[in-house]
Amino acid sequence: MCGLCLPHCPTYAKTQNEAESPRGRISLILGLANGHLQADDKLRSHLDNCLLCRACEAKCPSKVQYGEMMVGARSALKQDRPKQGQRINLDTLATNKQQQRREATRLWLANKSGLRALGRGLGITKALGMERFEQLAPNIPRPHDWQAYYPVKTEKQGDVALFIGCFSDMFDQKTLDDSITLLNACGYGVHIPSSQTCCGALHQHKGDSKQAIQLAQQNIDAFAQLDISAVISSATGCGSHLQEYQRITGSSLPACDINTFLGQIEWPQAIQFKPLNKKVAVHEPCSQRNILRESKAPYSLLKRIPALEIIGLPGNKQCCGAAGSYMIEHPKMADSLRDDKLETIKTSQPDILVSSNIGCALHLAAGIKAANIALEILHPISLLARQINR
Ligand code: SF4
Ligand code: SF4
Repeated sequence: MCGLCLPHCPTYAKTQNEAESPRGRISLILGLANGHLQADDKLRSHLDNCLLCRACEAKCPSKVQYGEMMVGARSALKQDRPKQGQRINLDTLATNKQQQRREATRLWLANKSGLRALGRGLGITKALGMERFEQLAPNIPRPHDWQAYYPVKTEKQGDVALFIGCFSDMFDQKTLDDSITLLNACGYGVHIPSSQTCCGALHQHKGDSKQAIQLAQQNIDAFAQLDISAVISSATGCGSHLQEYQRITGSSLPACDINTFLGQIEWPQAIQFKPLNKKVAVHEPCSQRNILRESKAPYSLLKRIPALEIIGLPGNKQCCGAAGSYMIEHPKMADSLRDDKLETIKTSQPDILVSSNIGCALHLAAGIKAANIALEILHPISLLARQINR
């Protein structure tokens, strides 16, 4: 109840309302738990408006486990988020590989044929309730068939597995391909077991603990038979959740974020990078900063590229508003938080923005496009892969 977390809470900063702060939300949860408060729409909405960015938890001197408390409250309330008319249910899409392939193929064909632009122009996208999803979905590539194993062509150091997730597989195959390239170049063979599924973070955050545990167990089983030193993830939102499997299931995965893994291993001396005379701003996703607490890892890796000017995006301590499906379900707050990022981008004027989380990258890219800002956005691993001297 000290309130030291309040200045770090984005929803409190935007509303100045105690009920939209970590301390206020904890009081509401306590009131529910001891029966002094009812779970009416207003109370549910204060809990639902939390981004689960966990900036409060990272700053709490008493080490209050806010994230766990909020997930527990949402689970107890079995909170249903408003559907807002989306034709695509993200929770279902995340867990259904066949539906992902169907939607990805449909969007890819719509892009190629020009139908997507036509649908937007004629207002069909809006009529289908897909306007928000459509703004965030990039020109997605054709669905990819991953090999079960990507062998090393030089001296081998070991084997790892790659977690491809659900939306990274749909929207960010480039980062996955570049991760394989760099891991192979560093001497690591890469397994991609096809039985892996969504990490379950979306479900956990919404209080669907049963589904989250099922997904976690499926992933633990998918990687269990492999002789690997790590399960590498290239999206910090997924990676931070993979590291919580021990707490939610009692079994763990040797999960490691790609930036951290590549920062810890010894690189072959033959790997060199082409100089790049540009300014790159590093966006630090909340999952990387507040949960993994590894936000410095991309900076060390990018220093390998000669002549590159590296800055932290000013205002990194505040969430960008993406927060899993929050950007679709709470567009007003999500866009307001993103507007703050766009302002800092305009003042710091980088040539490239890197982010290690696909959700943040999609949300920021949609804002950058709408604001007509000339800026490339990609994963730090993709920037490294592009500059590697082959
Ligand atoms: S998790 Fe983020 S949005 Fe939620 S109370 Fe904490 S700081 Fe505020
Ligand atoms: S969560 Fe921590 S920082 Fe925030 S009010 Fe409670 S004790 Fe203080």
